[in-house]
Amino acid sequence: MVRDPVCGMLIDPATAVATREHAGQVFYFCSQECVDKFDADPHYYGHPESEEDDTNDHEEHHNH
Ligand SMILES: [Zn+2]
Repeated sequence: MVRDPVCGMLIDPATAVATREHAGQVFYFCSQECVDKFDADPHYYGHPESEEDDTNDHEEHHNH
């Protein structure tokens, strides 16, 4: 199972309505509505966890 990044629903990749690739990661969507939202702002939906990593990287870099 994979997670639809827009609505957070767990879906089976085999039954996903559509897929998108962003930042080297493939995302699966339960509905065209979710795909449209993702397309409108892929950065927002495509980095649910990596935003924290970015912040950490930045801080570490700053401390150097
Ligand atoms: Zn969805």
